[in-house]
Amino acid sequence: MVENKIEKSEGEWKKVLTPEQYNVLRQKGTERPFSGKLYYNKEKGVYTCAACGQELFSSDTKFESGTGWPSFYDVISSDKVRLQEDNSHFIHRIEIVCSRCGSHLGHVFEDGPEPTGKRYCINSASLDFKKEGEDKQQGQEEKNEK
Ligand code: FE
Repeated sequence: MVENKIEKSEGEWKKVLTPEQYNVLRQKGTERPFSGKLYYNKEKGVYTCAACGQELFSSDTKFESGTGWPSFYDVISSDKVRLQEDNSHFIHRIEIVCSRCGSHLGHVFEDGPEPTGKRYCINSASLDFKKEGEDKQQGQEEKNEK
């Protein structure tokens, strides 16, 4: 049995997520293509789970898929996600969930670019974005205070 490191009741998730985030992350919804805030994002940084904050994808692996959903050809490391069979809507797909909180992120397909050939198709609503350098700056401030 798989255990999540972060367990919250659905009521607790509802309090901390927006209705759209809740629909996608906790009810496995799919946002409308081209509607998400991160599809066109080309800044350098790290994409994190919008539910628990775990780092999931690097901007270095993001590519223009034309699908309307943020797409990546790799995960920061394979232990950040769990892949599971999804046979809903009469289609066989591989669902991607965050390994830390079990929230739904999207699906992975085999038609991505080199070097992996994978296309991790992720809802914008499932992601937050940490711009490169912002972490470092925070770390620097902490050091300077000491
Ligand atoms: Fe998560």
